[in-house]
Amino acid sequence: MPASLISLAEARRIVLAAAPAPAAPEDVELSAGLGRILAEDVVAHHDLPPFDNSAMDGYAVRAGPAAELDVVGESRAGVPASAPMGPGQAIRISTGAAVPDGADAVVPIELAAVADRRVAVPETAPGANVRRAGEDVRAGVTVLGAGSELGPAGLGVLASLGRGAAKCRRRPGVALLATGDELVGPGRELRPGEIHDSNAIALAAQAVAAGAELVFSERVRDDRAATVDALRRAFRESDFVCVAGGVSVGPHDHVKGALADLGVDELFWGVAIKPGKPTCFGTADGGVPVLGLPGNPVSAMVVFHLIGRPLLRVMLGADPHPAATTAVLDSAVARSPSREQAVRCALRAAPDGWHAEPTGSQGSHVLTSMLGAQALALIAPGEGEAAAGDRIAIELLPGGTLSA
Ligand code: AMP
Ligand code: MG
Repeated sequence: MPASLISLAEARRIVLAAAPAPAAPEDVELSAGLGRILAEDVVAHHDLPPFDNSAMDGYAVRAGPAAELDVVGESRAGVPASAPMGPGQAIRISTGAAVPDGADAVVPIELAAVADRRVAVPETAPGANVRRAGEDVRAGVTVLGAGSELGPAGLGVLASLGRGAAKCRRRPGVALLATGDELVGPGRELRPGEIHDSNAIALAAQAVAAGAELVFSERVRDDRAATVDALRRAFRESDFVCVAGGVSVGPHDHVKGALADLGVDELFWGVAIKPGKPTCFGTADGGVPVLGLPGNPVSAMVVFHLIGRPLLRVMLGADPHPAATTAVLDSAVARSPSREQAVRCALRAAPDGWHAEPTGSQGSHVLTSMLGAQALALIAPGEGEAAAGDRIAIELLPGGTLSA
């Protein structure tokens, strides 16, 4: 490990500065749009609602004093009245149906007394129970900006504006390499000394959740030539390479050497975070970034969140900054003298705001400590502890919910 580690903030700065430009846009059908990043400003081409319509089932009338009116037709959702309405007349109307010409208010069915083809209505104010055209969105207005992530509401708004597809950033292709002679794929029997490879699955899920596409995933033996070969193919086939394990300087760690063999420009190695110290980052010839993650499963996931995800968000044209806020720490955490700590926490809503409770043992091999973690508390290095009751910085984990 180098004598001086760089800070997480510095590592992020370097990674964001080295990030490739946002990927090209492509048309994405709305049905496939969840989680995609918009590559266009979406401008409304028509008003929403597109026409004045009724907010209630009832009678379209001309506003005025109580009256008895002739019912001369009907306006249903999707089937407007065939003729306009004159003085002394009313038209039966359903919720969402067009308000007929000549009417400017709707009397709810509950307030109308109908007999034969006549209806008695109370005094009615202009505009009562009418939803005006453009009340939601005016034609020409930008409703969603480039860089927004499409969620259920955004997709619904696009559909309501008549858009069948939207220009979104192509998903960056991520390559994952899990290194280690001890690794066996899940679903296979373990022999002595072996463990199941969890990094490939967890990191792939994180990459996809960040908006990327998994295009390459291999387990690699602890062997220099095999590592070089796998990395070379990964660089060819992807936009961003993540390699987990083998990043340190033990006799069986080959990632640093293999990256050097491939001419990768190492921009840093060693970050003052816990977990996650043996993290390296560089760019290959064609500019493809490579993130070397520690093999320990918690370290790998934490570093991917802290450093890999922001990089992917830049490649997607989205805001790379994680949702960050503060919370009250519920249990003391011993500080690390020299490294910023990323403590997995569950969040709880309380009258004085959010509270963060560490999820138990914080060993970098204790993968179950990621279960139920909604945020990472970032505890500055120093002496002593972050005490229970201290207000601390937290970053929300994606998918982490802010419910109690
Ligand atoms: P390394 O960074 O290669 O020294 O690995 C550090 C620790 O993480 C070791 O205990 C490895 O067995 C473990 N490890 C490495 N890769 C994986 C993986 N893909 N899945 C689960 N554990 C791993
Ligand atoms: Mg290893």
